[in-house]
Amino acid sequence: MPIHAANVRYVCFDADDTLWKNEEFYRQAEQQFARLAAGRMPPAQAIEALFNTEMDNLAVFGYGAKSFMLSMVQTALQIVPPEQAAPAVQKILRIGRELILHPVELLPGVRSTLEKLAGKYHLSVITKGDLLDQERKLKNSGLLPLFNHVEIVSEKTPAAYRALFVRLGAKPAEVLMVGNSLKSDVFPAMEAGAQAAYLPCACNWKHEESDEPEQPAYLKIAALPDLLPVLL
Ligand SMILES: [Mg+2]
Repeated sequence: MPIHAANVRYVCFDADDTLWKNEEFYRQAEQQFARLAAGRMPPAQAIEALFNTEMDNLAVFGYGAKSFMLSMVQTALQIVPPEQAAPAVQKILRIGRELILHPVELLPGVRSTLEKLAGKYHLSVITKGDLLDQERKLKNSGLLPLFNHVEIVSEKTPAAYRALFVRLGAKPAEVLMVGNSLKSDVFPAMEAGAQAAYLPCACNWKHEESDEPEQPAYLKIAALPDLLPVLL
């Protein structure tokens, strides 16, 4: 067992693709976007162009659905002829609105796992992205009463995790960070001194991908309820 469960008092969860589905809705939106480029660019190339725009815009716009919409608009204007620009932008606004207002779909066993851990551990959510978007999802998830603390940050760096642990009054080794991204959840939290559990998601975003070490110092789980035998 790569983690010391007996030391854990605080459990911090990433939200998107750890508590609820997220990336697969973005992948669907990308497919819809690619249809706007039909006849001018193969879908894979349109999606690649969109990804490149997103990476260029990340430092300026940050994460989240609204930034994604702006990147779709910018990319579409590079692809479609001027006379098709207005309808393309209208279509993109529809795609983005549907993405933002998509009902929250919890991943398997999330609610029951949190209910079993609540009261026994201090539970936090730490998520990055658009503030309003994340607040809406948290509220609509119905999970909010189960958490002691919510933290919405612009970037999940080791410094952001250290600051969180200080705010919680937690020693880093008492914290277990649980998330679907090695790059944003697992590695930076471990660098800040926390323990970590990695819950891979089948549809991880290319930007969040990272190689797995051969002998990981984190716990790898297939679903959130896998935490229960470790922590209870
Ligand atoms: Mg995530």
